[in-house]
Amino acid sequence: MTPRALFLPLALLALAACSGPGYHRIDEALNDECPRSGKRISADALTIYRGRIVGFCKPECRDDFAAHVGERPEDRAFFDRLIAATYVEAYSEAHVEPATAR
Ligand SMILES: [Zn+2]
Repeated sequence: MTPRALFLPLALLALAACSGPGYHRIDEALNDECPRSGKRISADALTIYRGRIVGFCKPECRDDFAAHVGERPEDRAFFDRLIAATYVEAYSEAHVEPATAR
């Protein structure tokens, strides 16, 4: 293997390490409830979607979503709505008129 051929496997390994258990915190998750069951999300069922920590009720839900993101439009729509809501919040917070402006 050339050094170049090693780069991709190592990069993937680093990515896997970052998304492994214990790295994500449930209190930083975008959602509180599983998009599938409506149950509370579980600390052992977190993953990353569009750069956000998202949660599911159990690892089986999470693993299925993580392995088939492109084929799970309902789950993505659920998270996309929440992500869009955080953008709206950030925008309105950034554009509040200062009280001294009047
Ligand atoms: Zn679930």
